[in-house]
Amino acid sequence: CVATGSQKIYDTMVEMCKGLENVSVEFQKEVPHLGVVKTGCQGVCELGPLMRIEPYHFQYVKVQQEDCREIFEKTVLNGDPVERLFYSKGKEIFARPEEIPFIAKQTRVVLENCGSIDSENIDEYIAAGGFSALAKALFDMTPNEVIEEVDRSGLRGRGGGGYPTGRKWKQVARQAEKERYVVCNGDEGDPGAFMDGSVMEGDPFKMIEGMTIAGYAVASSEGYIYVRAEYPMSVARLRNAIAQAEEHHLLGDNILGSDFSFHLHINRGAGAFVCGEGSALTASIEGNRGMPRVKPPRTVEKGLWEKPTVLNNVETFANVPNIVLKGAEWFRTIGTEGSPGTKTFSITGAIENTGLIEVPMGTSLRDIIYEIGGGIKGNGEFKAVQIGGPSGGCLITPHLDIGLDFDSVKKYNAIMGSGGLVVMDEHTCMVEVARFFMSFTQRESCGKCVPCREGTKRMLEILERIVAGEGRLEDLDQLEELAEMVKSMALCGLGKSAPLPVLSTLKTFRDEYVEHIVEKK
Ligand code: SF4
Repeated sequence: CVATGSQKIYDTMVEMCKGLENVSVEFQKEVPHLGVVKTGCQGVCELGPLMRIEPYHFQYVKVQQEDCREIFEKTVLNGDPVERLFYSKGKEIFARPEEIPFIAKQTRVVLENCGSIDSENIDEYIAAGGFSALAKALFDMTPNEVIEEVDRSGLRGRGGGGYPTGRKWKQVARQAEKERYVVCNGDEGDPGAFMDGSVMEGDPFKMIEGMTIAGYAVASSEGYIYVRAEYPMSVARLRNAIAQAEEHHLLGDNILGSDFSFHLHINRGAGAFVCGEGSALTASIEGNRGMPRVKPPRTVEKGLWEKPTVLNNVETFANVPNIVLKGAEWFRTIGTEGSPGTKTFSITGAIENTGLIEVPMGTSLRDIIYEIGGGIKGNGEFKAVQIGGPSGGCLITPHLDIGLDFDSVKKYNAIMGSGGLVVMDEHTCMVEVARFFMSFTQRESCGKCVPCREGTKRMLEILERIVAGEGRLEDLDQLEELAEMVKSMALCGLGKSAPLPVLSTLKTFRDEYVEHIVEKK
């Protein structure tokens, strides 16, 4: 909402509330805590700036500065609605946030507090039940029981790989080396992805609580959050959250009077996509150039400072408090057998409602695009969705009813990735899409290994030639050959997955490549 001008509205409302010294005693009794609070993202980008008025629970959308006076006089002072600021569709009017179809059809677990608490105030998080999971872990559970609970829940890493989180924690806990680290990957470099950024901005305490529980489980006393410097609001809110948690003895030495201590540090990344890869990320925290290394040894054995390391992303850690508090069985009631829980997605592109959503694993693309996303922009025709960012692939109309989870999308040459969904309509040129993603990964290739450094460059040259109308039909075979080579021989995930957009568009939209070559001749 900052991008749509919410700061001006915030400032205006703050100014108006300042004049309230003169209001009646009755009003002050009725509304004892009048003030303006900034919350995190509610996810409905298309409807911003958003304003919610409590205790009336009115949700106003697309609020402009000139609406503030009316809101103040009608709603704040008198509790009456300004109806034209409610979200409406056809004849229906939605006055409450949970009635808006975009929000109503979601299951919010990770995002449960985003948009409803002040993410700069730890008291609001605590009032919403925050840190009870940490207290439960510290005083009612052994570290091993915490790991077992997370393992039984079936939580899989939300950063893209889908590796079982409990298994990872077990592997770290069983290392002989006693110095261990917990690292959170908040690098989120995919174009079109903003899930983790929204969690760090909207509810930083939840992931901090999850990381602290992980520290207790694997007997680590130091944690690092790697967050990209292009997320200044995330960095500021994390810093504030850490400071407040330390003040409340929820972080730092002897947490809640126990003998467990855990310290958190923030590392700002300089915006290299490859630093989302585990070994490059830990190298970057150590002050080295962020380049992947050959594995094994794996991060669980030799990660940060060559010590056993739990490395998970923001969303994974943010799932942990609810699992510890409500139990593995509860978590397994959401999602699919192989991928329990929910998944956050950012939906962008040719869609009516762009934004951030959270749905149970196994939700179909059709439900995401048509039920939550409101369909293709301007009643257009669905053509494809790029899932998993530049490392992912395209899903098309026959895939609309596939339930999205870690395993289902792999069958179609795509990956779940961290959850970026870019929707494309009939006007999108798929060759241009492949060229765009290849130019991104080529630019972000760290250059350490030849297949990726040279292969992506040659692939990009061919794609640029085809887009410019100078391609030849034999280019397509060479493109495919290079793609298979890079996929099988590159050193790290960035290189291995870089050809996926090309391979999936070549498979599904080969005729568009051919048209580019034949038509332009
Ligand atoms: Fe670097 Fe690419 Fe090789 Fe990964 S695959 S190590 S990004 S050159």
